[in-house]
Amino acid sequence: MERLARTKVKDLLGSQPGTEVLAKGWVRTKRGNKQLKFIALNDGSTVNNIQIVADTSLFDEELLKRVTTGASLAVKGRLVESLGSGQAVEIQASEIEVLGDCDPMRYPLQKKDTSFEYLRSVAHMRLRTNTFGAVLRLRHAMAFAIHKFFNDRGFVYLNTPLITESDAEGAGDMFQVTTLDLANVPTHGGKVDFSKDFFGKKTSLTVSGQLEGELGATAVGEIYTFGPTFRAENSNTPRHLAEFWMIEPEMAFYDIYDNMELAEAFVKYLVQYALDNNYDDLKFLNDKYDDGLIARLQSVLGIEFQRVTYTEAVEILEDAVAKGHKFEYPVHWGTDFQSEHERYLVETHFGKPVILIDFPKDIKAFYMKQNEDGRTVRGMDVLFPKIGEIIGGSEREASLEKLEARIDELGMSRKNLEWYIDTRRYGTVPHSGFGLGFERLLLFVTGMNNIRDVIPFPRTPKNAEF
Ligand code: ATP
Ligand code: MN
Repeated sequence: MERLARTKVKDLLGSQPGTEVLAKGWVRTKRGNKQLKFIALNDGSTVNNIQIVADTSLFDEELLKRVTTGASLAVKGRLVESLGSGQAVEIQASEIEVLGDCDPMRYPLQKKDTSFEYLRSVAHMRLRTNTFGAVLRLRHAMAFAIHKFFNDRGFVYLNTPLITESDAEGAGDMFQVTTLDLANVPTHGGKVDFSKDFFGKKTSLTVSGQLEGELGATAVGEIYTFGPTFRAENSNTPRHLAEFWMIEPEMAFYDIYDNMELAEAFVKYLVQYALDNNYDDLKFLNDKYDDGLIARLQSVLGIEFQRVTYTEAVEILEDAVAKGHKFEYPVHWGTDFQSEHERYLVETHFGKPVILIDFPKDIKAFYMKQNEDGRTVRGMDVLFPKIGEIIGGSEREASLEKLEARIDELGMSRKNLEWYIDTRRYGTVPHSGFGLGFERLLLFVTGMNNIRDVIPFPRTPKNAEF
């Protein structure tokens, strides 16, 4: 084939007819009659296909037989105005090269079963589907927009460690990292001798970069992390992964109100970015799975999120119970809300995203700023329709005395936290931060129902294939 620069399908679909073009991609479908074959070609640049029209008199019959669903092609031809409906332009093929054959008898995507469960078992093919193409492009767009949002505001991207000795507040159960021979573990006085381990101490995969993030914020002002996070939680829910990505901004000189404003502006920016830049993918997901998706995305933009204290929220929920609403889990002052409670507040009571603040101190981490009342702390959870919590954060306790007192009260070891407590020792400042679960955001943006289906290679209990 004569050399000609390849044009991506996305660009072809937006081009004027009349030029000679080269397209490459995978066959989605082939149909037609004796004279003409219509091939839908997709290269992953967009959810839409370019239609290739092949006049059978110009091509070898054997070659056209090899053009089957899944096969990869290079097609040269003229970009012309399309006569059929559904597309503005199509390619009148003059040359077709099969780059890679695809045995139609074995191609896994021809199976009747295209459920999400089945697709998770065929990792490569799963990503080839329109649905995962849309999800992957949205995932990328959101990652890019996250960096752009913070960069435009002068935040520094801080890389916190993945292997750590810190259990970060007990945010979740940890995966241990060790090179010790598990069949022959060295002991000392009846206990595992971690001095023989790779790092000379017990280490794990991080459950949060926050504590290290605070060190960055109290040095360069405003930082954010964006990286993998690991929690060995045996909760087989559609909202939990064992390996997920988290974005954790941390800001010096922010109080809880600044923190709420940032969180709200942040999610709105991301939703707006998706609508502005990935409308085709959203429209596809909207039409195929969830016809409320685009309306739901637009609905969070125009309004102010509802701010409400935990105590007020408990009253609302208790009132609902008194009026006959049934929750699976009981709710009273002091309990941690379940997803059903969060969704009641967002979807039934307020009808918009909710930012909850001022939680009982006993259900929140040691580092949260203590309120004057002695029983609540300046925590902040952002709750979204369909999902529940997507952001958890707080203003941090800036007082050395109060922080140390709380660590002692909880029976935690100060010794292991000295490096962290230092931030309150040397020029402490009011500061705040939060964590956004990247895949929770994607659940909202894509409208997918299961968190496993917004990450290319999900890790959950008993599942680490590929
Ligand atoms: P949840 O109560 O839903 O388990 P959490 O209180 O443990 O959340 P945080 O420790 O505050 O969550 O973590 C910050 C954010 O990280 C959460 O708001 C959520 O978006 C996300 N997140 C937490 N755990 C997971 C997980 N296992 N998989 C995916 N995202 C998670
Ligand atoms: Mn959790």
